[in-house]
This record gives sequence, structure tokens and C-alpha cells, in this order.
Amino acid sequence: MSELHTILQHNKAFVEQGAYKPFLTTKYPERKLAILSCMDTRIMELLPAALGVKNGEVKLIKNAGAVVSHPWGAVMRSLLVAVFDLYVEEIMVVAHYDCGMRGLNAKAFLDKAQTFGIPQDRIDTLHHAGVDLENWLTGFDNVEDSVRHTVSMIRHHPLMPKKILVHGLVMDPNTGKLNVIVDGNLAKEEK
Ligand SMILES: [Zn+2]
Repeated sequence: MSELHTILQHNKAFVEQGAYKPFLTTKYPERKLAILSCMDTRIMELLPAALGVKNGEVKLIKNAGAVVSHPWGAVMRSLLVAVFDLYVEEIMVVAHYDCGMRGLNAKAFLDKAQTFGIPQDRIDTLHHAGVDLENWLTGFDNVEDSVRHTVSMIRHHPLMPKKILVHGLVMDPNTGKLNVIVDGNLAKEEK
């Protein structure tokens, strides 16, 4: 059973009762901060609570693994929009331990695709067309290395102004405790 009906029912009442009023704010993040994090369900509410950030204060971008996997993809573009259009001055990459992207394996993933009805010849066609599925569907071995890599991609992006601070952290998905992997303040002094 799809969730759509339940959600639309809730939404109707939500709007009619004016329950949106406490959430009214602007599109500009008050704390001039953008956070790139993971879509993991455990940190859906834990992340803002553990960081002490509220509605209206930050731009939150999420994907599987809190990664920038391509310099010209939608995540990097979102971060640049946050900087140029929304006055963000600081970026935090917040990944988490026990992430599903750790150890993601292309072969196992494509085997699974077949059990979902994606035919092998379609996968072969993609390979023949030069689509690098192996690289695209491979996660990371070590979340801290992945954070360092993503921070570096952001910091060294040719369109990212040097004054923007870029930090990298890893969160415990149970307690919310943060480990600082890259302190952008220190990284800035280094160069
Ligand atoms: Zn994750």
C-alpha cells in the first residue's frame, strides 16, 4: 500500500489547521551554513538535534553516503547555489559510521538489479555504451577517507571561492557524537 494517500490526508489537515505557521522562515540560511549529509533514516531527526540547528538556519543536502562523487553533478551545483545565491559561508560534510555506502559493491548491486527484473542484456548494453557502472556503483571502504575526499572535491572545485570554510565530520548514528575529520579553519591556514 502506497504512502501517498496517508500523506495527502495528513497534508490536507496540516494546511487547513495552519500547522505550518511555526515553520515560516526565509530561504536564506540564518547561520550561513550548508550541510551535506547522508539519507540514513537514523539521522533524519538526530542530525539537526545533535548539531543544534533549526529550521531556517541551514541548507541541508542529502544523498547516500554524504558524498560529492562528481564535480559537475547536482550536489556540487547545490553547494555552489548555496554559496552564490543564498550567502552560505561555511560548508560541513557530515557522514556517519555504519553507512550503507561503505562497501557498496557494483557486482552485488547489479545482481540485485536482476532480481528486480532488470535484464542482463540491458546491463550489458550500458557497459558496451561505455557507462562505467563499476565506478558509479562502488561505495567507500572507509568513511573518514570518503569525507576527506569529498571535502577536498568541494574545497578545490574551480568555482568554489577560497574564503568558504569546508569541514568534514563523521557522526555516530546512535548517539549523534561528532568526530572532526577536517577542520576547515585549520585547512585554510595551511595553504
Ligand atoms: Zn549513510
